[in-house]
Amino acid sequence: GAVPSSHGEFVLMPLLISVRSLCTTALFLLAPACTLALARVRAKRTRSLADEDALKQSALDKSSFTAHSVLLHLISLCKELSIDSLYKVAVDIIKDLLPIERAAVFLVDTEKRKLHLIQSADANDIQIPLTHGIAGACAREGKAFIVGDAYTDARFDPSVDELTGFRTRSVVSAPVLDEHGSVRAVLQALNKKHLGRDVPFSNTDQMLLEVLANVISGLHARGVVFEAMARQEQQAKALLKTVVICHSGQSARKKASAVTSAVKVGVDSDCAHLYVFDEVNNELLLLSDTEARSNLRLKIASDACSRAVRSGQPETGQGPTSASFPSDPRPALAGRTTHSVLAVPIVSGARVLGVLEARNQRHGTFAAWHVELLSAISLQVSDTQLLQELLDELVANQTLVTDKETEELREQFIREYSSEKRTSATWVDDVRELTDGTSPSKVRLKRLLSTAVHNQHEYRTQAVNPVRLKYSHPTASTLLNLPAKLRPDALYSWDLDLLALTTEELVQLTAAILCAAGVLSAFDISLDALACFLDKVSSSYLGNPYHNFQHAVAVVHGTFLLSRDLIEEADRMEVEGAEPKAASRLRLGKLEVFALLLAGIGHDVEHPGVTNQFLVTTSAPLALRYNDESVLENHHAAVTFAILSDKKANILRSFSSEERQQVRHLVCKTILATDMAHHATAVKELTAIAAETKPAENLSVLAALLHLADLSNSCLAWPNSRQWALLVCDEFRAQVKRERELGLTVAPHLAELDGPYAIAKLQIGFIDFVVAPLWKAAALILPTAKGRVVQLESNRSEWARLKQQAPNGRKHSADLDERVGAAAAPA
Ligand SMILES: [Zn+2]
Repeated sequence: GAVPSSHGEFVLMPLLISVRSLCTTALFLLAPACTLALARVRAKRTRSLADEDALKQSALDKSSFTAHSVLLHLISLCKELSIDSLYKVAVDIIKDLLPIERAAVFLVDTEKRKLHLIQSADANDIQIPLTHGIAGACAREGKAFIVGDAYTDARFDPSVDELTGFRTRSVVSAPVLDEHGSVRAVLQALNKKHLGRDVPFSNTDQMLLEVLANVISGLHARGVVFEAMARQEQQAKALLKTVVICHSGQSARKKASAVTSAVKVGVDSDCAHLYVFDEVNNELLLLSDTEARSNLRLKIASDACSRAVRSGQPETGQGPTSASFPSDPRPALAGRTTHSVLAVPIVSGARVLGVLEARNQRHGTFAAWHVELLSAISLQVSDTQLLQELLDELVANQTLVTDKETEELREQFIREYSSEKRTSATWVDDVRELTDGTSPSKVRLKRLLSTAVHNQHEYRTQAVNPVRLKYSHPTASTLLNLPAKLRPDALYSWDLDLLALTTEELVQLTAAILCAAGVLSAFDISLDALACFLDKVSSSYLGNPYHNFQHAVAVVHGTFLLSRDLIEEADRMEVEGAEPKAASRLRLGKLEVFALLLAGIGHDVEHPGVTNQFLVTTSAPLALRYNDESVLENHHAAVTFAILSDKKANILRSFSSEERQQVRHLVCKTILATDMAHHATAVKELTAIAAETKPAENLSVLAALLHLADLSNSCLAWPNSRQWALLVCDEFRAQVKRERELGLTVAPHLAELDGPYAIAKLQIGFIDFVVAPLWKAAALILPTAKGRVVQLESNRSEWARLKQQAPNGRKHSADLDERVGAAAAPA
């Protein structure tokens, strides 16, 4: 029994000490209260005695009662550490010390130039402008004063009375000043009464309020320091927790969940999320959130998280109806209003790996220190392998989810099409049945049917053209009135992000390029005709994922940069006194530059979103018209000149007939040269020109420049390059879908373009076997192409990295690489 008892003593000792200190505190607090009680009793007794001494005693007791009472209140005030509660207690104290109907405190918001009313009685959030009312006057003047009758005072503003239903008669106000003499708050006592009647406020009342204001001023300063310390502690704890978690041996998922809970506590939000950015699919994967929801994919859109991915910077949003919150499919967030959001990217080098997101700051909006904290946490996370581990784990899980979804979708389709409706899907079955046999009549029938399906598709593509929505037609006056983002230096950069531009802006950009190339003035091209021409061309491009007006303008921009470089290179050679022949062989005239840009504008017009091969195989009307030879390219050139034949759109009006013929010749030939069937010849020819083993003809130089620009996507900065690649794949997928519907053979490298592995593999093959040989030949002549080749190599290693990370590599065999390269060209 000896051991437990001695153990008990050890426990009891500190307990006893703390009980004793508590009693001391209580006594210290109670002593004035006892004196107070005694004083009250004495005061009553003295009043009953009517002699002079007793009256004197009474006055003395009264003042000692007041002094005690004030002291007691000040002690309770000193205990308040937060600024909010400090002023709430202050209201109670004023009401307790003075015989008044109401007490009030107005906090000064210097930034918004407002006064914020704090009343202990009702918690209504009342704000008045700093220029209004007696409180406003006190805040502006920084002095205490008494108002005898509020409604006769010019400074009085009755709006607060109207809001609260209270009627103000007399007021005493005192300002709470900070250490620099600025007003932090205004204390007020309202309607002094004695024995049920109004009595005026005395100087002593005013002095009492001023003393209180002085004490509060010091306590307010202490509160500021205290709140800053509390905030720092909160920050440090969240950060420390993140560091410890990230370096612990826990599973990736547990780490992620612990990081999000650290974020949630650290910034005091309703919920927090951690997303991994899936570059290949352009999606954010919700990995773990504080509500333990399952994995979810969100397309990159315009919400705060998406913006953080794009900008690589912290982004905030205010709700609930702003664009920061697209329809969120998460069940946890569906029924909840989001009023504020903070999204901070997790960045490694120049790459965004993921996003940390906090929603609904509990005390209002996210402040600068919240952004700082989340940035510090994101830095910690990016330093570890956490996101990579999560991505690996997620990819493994995701495959299962997708398979299940596909299965459900398939069942839906079966249910949908088993009804009486005759749709293209049942048509497809008919076609398939017919093609089982190989008799000539069945083959003919198959061709007829597939043409019908194709035509129907073409009609649909034209009907649903997303680029045409909300479009205003360009005019001569709006054409060269460029928006700020198309400032002149953007025009001369390969980094110009065309995918971010509207159709109007793309039209303006094209006009600006023609203007910068000097061809508008050289050939006296009217802006009215140009506006009409560009309007007609832009609306003749269809809403394909890739072969649309955006692609056309990208190619115009590329030919502009390449031809400019070529001209500058020729100038440089001339200045340096190179052999005149060498310089002149690269010399491009204004007419050639114009033809090149015009060819770029029209080079894919009315592209149906399928390849020449598809059109030939399905005996599409276009293939029949052009005898299966460069079907698309013939069509693009023909449509371009059909548009020019319209009088209003004829930008060749002021050209001489010789010039016109020459432009037509150059434009048609360069557009026809974009057919990928001529790619190998184009590479050979460009290499020969570079090696000076072949004289450079203007036409072959122009054709090479247009072909280079047409194949420049892989040479752009990685985020842009990746986007274009994904768009090409979207278009390939759409074609594969139609090939399957028609029972046609699908090219193996395009057959499974759904996964990141297949996409990355296709891109690598395309770069190695198609883009790199062409651009490397160009780099021998053009300085700007050298920089592009460096970018191309860096992009190739990005695809290689993605390919290595992706699952299901086993599905593909290595011998596919070469074939992938040969057929993947999206010219
Ligand atoms: Zn093209």
